[in-house]
Amino acid sequence: MDSNCLFCKILKREIPAQIVYEDAATLAFLDINPVNPGHTLVIPKVHSSDVFEIDEKNWAAVMKTSRVVAHALEKALQTDGINLGMNNRAGAGQVIFHAHVHVMPRFKDDPHSLWPGRPYAEGEFEKTGEKIRAAL
Ligand code: AMP
Ligand code: ZN
Repeated sequence: MDSNCLFCKILKREIPAQIVYEDAATLAFLDINPVNPGHTLVIPKVHSSDVFEIDEKNWAAVMKTSRVVAHALEKALQTDGINLGMNNRAGAGQVIFHAHVHVMPRFKDDPHSLWPGRPYAEGEFEKTGEKIRAAL
């Protein structure tokens, strides 16, 4: 636990949250500023800042709970779809540095859209693939 971490405080019940699910390794609670009502955050109980720091076991637990929550949102809210998302590090828009996955209910007429794509420049497609394969 990190005493300055907002989500660790939710884990310790030091600040209020609308907790919807809990198991040995994870906690799921409503995001206070949702994309749509029901937008849920899934966190590991062991503090880790992001996808780079979390260990494989806790990551697997977060993924498992995200799927459980997705099913519950579909059933409870009659969603038309679910987006899963995660911001990792400030450069990707992360604001709370306790790893969390967003499980976001979607409805066919809601105003949200996905990130815009852009085509690769000439040769960039193959070069990018090569760089990533070399790093793995
Ligand atoms: P990010 O780190 O970019 O994934 O954003 C943090 C998310 O946490 C935002 O969607 C906030 O609305 C949400 N959030 C911030 N404070 C709380 C809180 N006390 N309870 C629930 N969700 C929160
Ligand atoms: Zn924390």
